[in-house]
Amino acid sequence: MKLLIALQVCDTRMGDIRIKKEEGPKKVQRFERQLAAVEKELEEEIKQVEAYTRERRQAERGTEDIENKQQKANIKLSNIKSNKEYQAALKEIDDLKRAQSLLEDKVIEIMEQIEAIETKCAASREMAERMKRQFELDREAIMKELEALDRDLEELEKERRRLSQAVDASLLTRYDYLRGHKGGIAVSPVVKGVCQTCHLGIPPQEFNELIRGDKLMTCPNCTRIIYWGEDQRYQIGVSEQDK
Ligand SMILES: [Zn+2]
Repeated sequence: MKLLIALQVCDTRMGDIRIKKEEGPKKVQRFERQLAAVEKELEEEIKQVEAYTRERRQAERGTEDIENKQQKANIKLSNIKSNKEYQAALKEIDDLKRAQSLLEDKVIEIMEQIEAIETKCAASREMAERMKRQFELDREAIMKELEALDRDLEELEKERRRLSQAVDASLLTRYDYLRGHKGGIAVSPVVKGVCQTCHLGIPPQEFNELIRGDKLMTCPNCTRIIYWGEDQRYQIGVSEQDK
């Protein structure tokens, strides 16, 4: 029974380590997704800056156009003969001034936008850099942890081989079958008449038999191999049993 309990502890630990081993790569994937999101945002921001810069150039060209037109209008004004023509030329100059002022406002507005986005760009860039630096540190830690887990797993595998050789062959087959069909747990303690794995009670008479401990018993509900969980003989850890 002790051997079976040790085997169960060993298998449970190996299962835990295998689950833990998957955490590292998952963490890396999660990080890569986060970094990709930040880099995509940065790319969008750079595109926005480019679009605004094009818009600014266009507006500036518009201003130059208006300046040329103003020069022409002023020349025209000095050659005017009738009052009617004079009024029309004045109105044209006035309209050009208004248009120019609007364009100048627009240029200022665009420059403000560019400035705001460039601030965002700088923040995104810094964030991406910081994430990459942190990731390098994390990756080292993850690799070290994986190595440690591999070492533990190797030790446990050795121990498992030793234990399986010590256990009666038909019992080992039964144990492995139960483990394969019962969520990885083949051996379960029973405490105060209750199976600690399926959490159902076993009949008092069977519990008394279990306490006597002179034969191998199974839980009438979940069919796992059971032992009396409060038995002092079974309170020792795996490492103790190695000796
Ligand atoms: Zn049970």
